Amino acid sequence: MTTSKNVRSKTAMQAVAERGGATDDALRAPFAVTEAPGIDIFADMQTMGHEQILLSHDPSCGYFGIIAIHDTTLGPALGGTRFWQYAGTDEAITDALRLARGMTYKSAVAGINLGGGKSVIIGDNKRADREALFRAHGRFIETLGGRYITAEDIGTSPADMEYIKLETDHVAGLLGLSGDPSPVTGYGVYVGMKAAAKVKWGSDSLSGKSVAVQGAGKVAHYLMQHLHVEGARIIVTDIDGEKVKRAVQEFGAHAVLPDDIYDQPADIYAPCALGATINDETLPRLKVQIIAGGANNQLAEDRHGDELEKRGILYAPDYVINGGGVINVYGELHRWPVERAKKKAGEIYDTLLRIFDIAKHERMPTYRAADRLAMQRVSSVAGLDRMWMGKR
Ligand code: NAD
Repeated sequence: MTTSKNVRSKTAMQAVAERGGATDDALRAPFAVTEAPGIDIFADMQTMGHEQILLSHDPSCGYFGIIAIHDTTLGPALGGTRFWQYAGTDEAITDALRLARGMTYKSAVAGINLGGGKSVIIGDNKRADREALFRAHGRFIETLGGRYITAEDIGTSPADMEYIKLETDHVAGLLGLSGDPSPVTGYGVYVGMKAAAKVKWGSDSLSGKSVAVQGAGKVAHYLMQHLHVEGARIIVTDIDGEKVKRAVQEFGAHAVLPDDIYDQPADIYAPCALGATINDETLPRLKVQIIAGGANNQLAEDRHGDELEKRGILYAPDYVINGGGVINVYGELHRWPVERAKKKAGEIYDTLLRIFDIAKHERMPTYRAADRLAMQRVSSVAGLDRMWMGKR
């Protein structure tokens, strides 16, 4: 983003008050409103390939929402709603644009018919009075007539999705429908890990291999279940002692302290907790041959993916291997039984083999090969529009 040095900012509170529309609710979400936008949104949309970005404000409840739609070639844009106290509008727009593009790639490589989008609500995500806020968001989504479908993301919950549902049908991840996506995600990570093993060691068996699992939460639990059945040796850590205890008892895992997970002489590192754990500090410590885990945004920066390649560590790109989550949502939209979603997540195995192959033949890091494969699918489907099919 290019940011002007001459940006004049004021709080939302001041902006609303000046227009004579100040209400108690509006005062709850003070943040910097850029009066003279310093970012060149069109330049960013052009560089990243976005179709549309929309902003909406409802002073009655202090709602400040943004929807970014990256690419709808494959289908309606799907991506969660992030509720976050951004420092200002510029930062929120930048995040929405970046996350929306990521969703295009994620759904494209998952082989499902969804485009990429994302929305953000600016404000304190601990806020207790949520109904009006999320209904305002639902109304905003409804104006797009299905071009954008939302779901949960950081700062939002299934209960928030129920509020959105009161105003629009274009919301997924509802209570009582597809439910927790973690079993499907965990399974996808497991098969993806096997694909990496196949390329690295010539066999996809994980029997006897040691896997250092960071985080023993939902995704990691299902991953460890599969690993345990296959006879892998599990090393585990979590900041929550109870979860570690459960992994030790159920899967015979060996527990280590959170910061020691990077130093383990294991075959595979499976990040299943936080983002950006592959960084300048951890890279020199990793002794593994494969990185394959469920966490989002594992590379602190792209250059860390380049560095992994130089060090001969095979990296299964995060948004490919954790695609079971979005597959599960797609399954909900199409009323798939969970077994069908799981079967689709099983295709992550072949997708990763293709990505590793592209990386090898094109001499590029695997994270770039994944982007290449994603955009190849989008371009190939876009090409079909050439033939007139009548009014659809
Ligand atoms: P979760 O909250 O159930 O599990 C995360 C675990 O990480 C928690 O047990 C937490 O205590 C632990 N943790 C936090 N900080 C840690 C640290 N410093 N060291 C060790 N452990 C730490 O979440 P989840 O649903 O299992 O998701 C895990 C990751 O996978 C997240 O990055 C999430 O965005 C991503 N992801 C999840 C899904 C899904 O279906 N749930 C889908 C795609 C991606």
